[in-house]
Amino acid sequence: MKGIQIVKPGEIKLIDMEKPVITEHDNVLIKMTAAGICGSDVGIYHGTNAAATYPRVIGHEMVGVVEAVGGNAAHLKPGDRVIVDQVVSCGHCYACRKGRGNVCADLKVRGVHIDGGYREYMAVPEKDCYLLPESLPDETAVMIEPTTIAIQSCSRAELCEEDTLLIFGAGALGSSILKIARLSGAKIIVADIMEDKLTEALKNGADFTVNSAKEDVVERAKELTGGYGPTVSIDAACTKDSLLTLLKAAGNAGRVMTMGFSVAPTEINQFLITSKELDVRGSRLQNKKFREAIKLIQEGKLDLSGSISHTFPLEKAQEAFDFVDSRDPSIRKIVLTFSD
Ligand code: MN
Ligand code: ZN
Repeated sequence: MKGIQIVKPGEIKLIDMEKPVITEHDNVLIKMTAAGICGSDVGIYHGTNAAATYPRVIGHEMVGVVEAVGGNAAHLKPGDRVIVDQVVSCGHCYACRKGRGNVCADLKVRGVHIDGGYREYMAVPEKDCYLLPESLPDETAVMIEPTTIAIQSCSRAELCEEDTLLIFGAGALGSSILKIARLSGAKIIVADIMEDKLTEALKNGADFTVNSAKEDVVERAKELTGGYGPTVSIDAACTKDSLLTLLKAAGNAGRVMTMGFSVAPTEINQFLITSKELDVRGSRLQNKKFREAIKLIQEGKLDLSGSISHTFPLEKAQEAFDFVDSRDPSIRKIVLTFSD
């Protein structure tokens, strides 16, 4: 079978690999049908993802159809359409015992530390598969994964109706967060440097937008919250100054969420956190949020249609990644598709 491997940073290759077989542990064989390209896949390709190991078959937004199940599979049957959880955890470290396998001490993320979904078949445990709603096309279904990341950040932030939320960044991550955050009923401010992204944010449920290239985010955020400052801030921009900006903007007793993976030091000061007794929390990947994401779609609360801008066949992954690098403004989510 075919797969797409990042041999080393900068080198992407169509390879022949052995088709996986069902084992007691990986008891479901999935024939892949769609796999999304995420910013972190691009980071692994370019060698800027500190967590990745090489060579790696990347892809963590993994949709397919069950081809065969092992004797001990209890729920799935051939023909079922599923999305696969990217998180593989040990189950017994401190984080796992606390029910937080997404930060397992021995975390293995599919497509990052172990092979992911850019290959024709995968064998995975049945418990890592989630049934897709019938109405949802396979290409669109890859968007469930970014949705789970958004649910994770809102849940870590304990976002609720009485909050005022500042989302810094209106790109792919920020707009997924907005689509989930709006369901809380919180008042939402979105800040970004791109005017067209802010216009889109207003359409998607933001109450206010701030152009951070032209306006002072801290000042505007305070004005828009009656002087108090946002009670929840989520950093979906993850730039050099974004964390400091959010700490300054945050209202007393607020929560500030980090989502970045940069290892570059950033200057902050303790006074901002201590004087307002802020909770600064990280949000990484997602912790069993697929069911919740799928439920929101089924209930009609979340509409993912229109999210996919381009598709490329798996074999043309190089072309797809080159296109991503072109930063063409028409790019939203790009999906790799598989031939029958
Ligand atoms: Mn992703
Ligand atoms: Zn663990």
